[in-house]
Amino acid sequence: MTDPVRDTNLPDEAAAANELMRLARQIAYHNRRYHAEDAPEISDAEYDALVRRNAWLEAAFPHLIRADSPSRAVGHEVSASPLGKVTHEVRMMSLDNAYTDEEVEDFVARVRRFLALPADAPVTMTAEDKIDGLSCSLRYEHGKLVRAATRGDGQVGEDVTANVAYIKDIPQQLAARPDETLPDVFEIRGEVYMAKADFLALNAAQAEREDKVFANPRNAAAGSLRQKDASITAARPLRFLAHGWGAASSVPEDTQFAMMQRIAAWGVPVSPLLVHCGSTPDMLAHYRSIQAQRADLPYDIDGVVYKVDSLEWQRRLGFVAKAPRWGMAHKFPAERAETTLEAIDIQVGRTGKLTPVGRLAPVLVGGVTVTNVTLHNRDEIGRLGVRVGDRVVLQRAGDVIPQVVENLTRETPRDAYHFPDHCPECGSEAVAEEGEVDVRCTGGLICPAQRTERLRHFVSRAALDIEGLGEKTIAEFFALGWLESPADIYRLRKRRDDIVGREGWKDKSVDNLLAAIEAKRAPDAARLLFGLGIRHVGAVTARDLMKRFVTLPALRDAAQRAWPGEGVEGDPEARAELLSIDGVGPVVVEALGEFFHEPHNVAVWDDLLSEVSPPDFIVETRASAVAGKTVVFTGKLETMSRDEAKAQAEALGARAAGSVSPKTDLIVAGPGAGSKLKKAAELGIEVIDEAAWADIVKAAG
Ligand code: ZN
Repeated sequence: MTDPVRDTNLPDEAAAANELMRLARQIAYHNRRYHAEDAPEISDAEYDALVRRNAWLEAAFPHLIRADSPSRAVGHEVSASPLGKVTHEVRMMSLDNAYTDEEVEDFVARVRRFLALPADAPVTMTAEDKIDGLSCSLRYEHGKLVRAATRGDGQVGEDVTANVAYIKDIPQQLAARPDETLPDVFEIRGEVYMAKADFLALNAAQAEREDKVFANPRNAAAGSLRQKDASITAARPLRFLAHGWGAASSVPEDTQFAMMQRIAAWGVPVSPLLVHCGSTPDMLAHYRSIQAQRADLPYDIDGVVYKVDSLEWQRRLGFVAKAPRWGMAHKFPAERAETTLEAIDIQVGRTGKLTPVGRLAPVLVGGVTVTNVTLHNRDEIGRLGVRVGDRVVLQRAGDVIPQVVENLTRETPRDAYHFPDHCPECGSEAVAEEGEVDVRCTGGLICPAQRTERLRHFVSRAALDIEGLGEKTIAEFFALGWLESPADIYRLRKRRDDIVGREGWKDKSVDNLLAAIEAKRAPDAARLLFGLGIRHVGAVTARDLMKRFVTLPALRDAAQRAWPGEGVEGDPEARAELLSIDGVGPVVVEALGEFFHEPHNVAVWDDLLSEVSPPDFIVETRASAVAGKTVVFTGKLETMSRDEAKAQAEALGARAAGSVSPKTDLIVAGPGAGSKLKKAAELGIEVIDEAAWADIVKAAG
């Protein structure tokens, strides 16, 4: 098999420099998606291919190695975590991997040699399924859970004590037998995971809310557990299975198997597939039995773990580097299957993004029949070189979502697939903006696909949340010309009789739908803003914007002033006010400005606001002397950061602005305030010091 990373001719120097730049960006992006955001977009194999391609180009052009080369990064940067750090008293190990029966036999032989046992001496091992989850250590003192921590780098993990309180499998108090004294200290180790069914349900709900969709159950579990706000963890269906222990003041059993049974008796689940095996053939038989059950297990597994059963032998065997000599993970081969790519369909999303979807001759991969696979984007099709009719290899490597990893008929002469340069739905030109991989339809609101997707977004749960206006109904009314824009939703009541006359509609169902719409005549302003589907304005940003601007006209005014057009200088004050909001950067300012400068959008907006009247967006705050006022912090603050000061102001119902203007009510000035104080004096604005501000905060309780 040729290596897809190298089997092209060496590019010329200019092309290589460009490609190295692109690879540096791509690899950094995928590192961030995987490590910091728990949301990888590509498989491990694809990631490895990028890294190898980068290394190959760097070897060929050593003088082109970039300062930000991915090959220079030392390991993976640990993401800045909002969670506290916990140093593990006993390091959390990983296990060495075996991929073949011979490697397992070698492992058992090494154990015998190390212990100076005869070659035919029995070595009892435990064997259990290896869950693909997030390793976690639970510290119990006198049977009470005192701390939970993730593995992290093995030495230092993240404190998730508050989060695991919501995992039912993890008892706060271990159950002791009446005659049993629990160890003073006992750290139970295992995997936090998400069952496959729960994962699919979570992703479906996330997709409906236009929230982050997770690539696989492991990432969903990690993303759900590692939350500063433990209430998010509470809403996620996490489970736990124990597979061992760390620091322990005493270990009340003398075999691995008996100790795991004891942990189960304490009330912490262990794998139901844990057995002990008297010989290597027994171990391998159990491996094949678990492999055969893999697709039917409620959770994802990626192999079988063997451990020497005798704890005395484990102690003698000890550790080498980061792994114990007494354990081994026997990994399953990646699940792969070959099939034919029968068609490439293009789906058009709400933002006009063209997504290629491969239609496949149905094939079984790891017990699941696969008929469709996303091909992601134009670049991915180019990378794989796939065309309709090609034989492709699909892979599910611990992933629920299969990926095309190889094109087996790349060399077969056949016309290359031409990614459409026009939208298949409306015929408008489809282009990729500079620096973007996604090709988008430029038809905007004349594109029926974008329009119906936008209407669906507008009524979705995270936006207006109008029940009874589903995908089918939107498509039906859209085709009739009854639903052109969001405002038309509110005019459907004039069509009551027409709707009742249609097949599938009864008086009652029409009345229910119209009542659901009427209930949203005075919608939440942040949901309305989010529902408009402005690029880069998600549900959270919409809330933050409304918190600051209170009314939609005030926001529109600021957006229009801050960004009057491409390359035109905006009003610095409006710009500064927008940029002072958390999560709002130049990209959001531009997206808002573009939206409100497009005449069609303004018409849709005005039309909508003639039908609905969202009340002022007032966030519940504490009563305070500064509620409703605009406060500017300036100079050096001594007892708190600028961010904390702004958060205090917002909690007190005030607005924190970045610059002094006639609208400013109060200035909190520290040393070195300078020009802002002069301006304040000119405008006659009240100025107080940090201590006086602290008194206001204190008085509000
Ligand atoms: Zn289109």
